[in-house]
Amino acid sequence: MFAGAVLSQADCIIVGSGIAGLATALRLRQSGLDVLLVERGAVGKEASWAGGGIVCPLYGWRYPEPVMRLAARGMRTYPAFIESLSELSDIDPEFHPSGMLILDPFEQGEQPTELLDWAKRQNQTAEISSAAEHFPHLDDRMALWLPDVHNTRNPRLLQALNQAATRMGVRIVEQTAVQQILTEHERVVGIETTSGTMHAPRVLVAAGAWSGLLTPGLSPASVFPVRGQMLRFDHSPANGLPTILMEDGVYLIPRRDGSVVVGSTVEHAGFDKHTTEEAIRHLHAKAIALWPNLAHAPISHQWSGLRPGTTDELPYLGAHPEISGLFVSTGFYRNGLAMGPAVAEIMANLILSRPIDLDLTDYRLNRPTTYGD
Ligand SMILES: Cc1cc2nc3c(=O)[nH]c(=O)nc-3n(C[C@H](O)[C@H](O)[C@H](O)COP(=O)(O)OP(=O)(O)OC[C@H]3O[C@@H](n4cnc5c(N)ncnc54)[C@H](O)[C@@H]3O)c2cc1C
Repeated sequence: MFAGAVLSQADCIIVGSGIAGLATALRLRQSGLDVLLVERGAVGKEASWAGGGIVCPLYGWRYPEPVMRLAARGMRTYPAFIESLSELSDIDPEFHPSGMLILDPFEQGEQPTELLDWAKRQNQTAEISSAAEHFPHLDDRMALWLPDVHNTRNPRLLQALNQAATRMGVRIVEQTAVQQILTEHERVVGIETTSGTMHAPRVLVAAGAWSGLLTPGLSPASVFPVRGQMLRFDHSPANGLPTILMEDGVYLIPRRDGSVVVGSTVEHAGFDKHTTEEAIRHLHAKAIALWPNLAHAPISHQWSGLRPGTTDELPYLGAHPEISGLFVSTGFYRNGLAMGPAVAEIMANLILSRPIDLDLTDYRLNRPTTYGD
């Protein structure tokens, strides 16, 4: 924590310490900017902590193409991102190639060639096979096998990012809510917070599901919370799940220590982060049906998080169309962990006025959804 006058000025202020905020802060600091990151609660404890850490969209072929474009870029960027993080932090994000088996991939009328073509476009290895080849108890159900899919233990990833950013000199202020973006003559000049005014010529809003409450032109109808509930079976050698296994939107993720994370629900419940007995019972029953080894494993944790949803499922990424110096990086919905490193690179270059090699038109703030309503 930093106090007093030191806080009042920076080259760039970032609002929010999820993966979008922290990873961009680190990049900007590595390019020499004095970065102040302001977080309402504790660092990295919202959606980026709550998520499953699968570094690939679920049923990726069902998303609009611009979502997959960013996610695929994220997936390509991950190994180098994890490698560079390991030089700056001694916390292991447990990034590992678990692969992912998706049961009944054709349930919405897809054709096998469609899925294989989709995988080819992403440069991803994919096989259509019988689930029994991987899990004999699942009989001869059809499955899509994606052997290259990785998962990361995202709470540790956020801790590693926090440590790396702090060591590099990003100034992080916790327990401080940003109340307003300050502008003068259509140019950003800083922020008003619960700890006073802070000044910077550049401000990035990366406030997750709360971004619509803060960003001029966006609104709670543009970016909104979508609750996801999760549970975790603790480490047990008997758990032994070899790969991510998914059926009908419920996924089981093997962590490297033998624990299994199960998710998730998709609920529109406002900013309410309670878990419900009904959802946990549903996830528990599905998990045991899919992987009976978990039948006697105790649930060690249950939690929920708020994904930053948007009406068209696309993120909002880029420079603000009306306020110079203001940037936005939000709306990552179900894929923010997968997209994170790629988005950080793009946003850092944009903020630094460096060339970027991605057309951001599809992600612009003032696209015809709910901007300025
Ligand atoms: C249950 C669940 C499972 C998921 N699984 C996956 C997955 O397997 N793979 C994947 O890629 N993605 C997954 N996601 C999605 C992913 O977690 C999100 O898209 C991503 O974490 C969003 O990151 P973010 O930085 O935008 O938001 P967040 O991580 O929510 O960070 C935003 C931060 O901004 C802070 N903030 C908000 N308002 C203010 C303010 N006024 N002042 C200061 N600070 C403020 C918040 O406190 C928060 O810390 C999952 C999400 C959930 C909930």
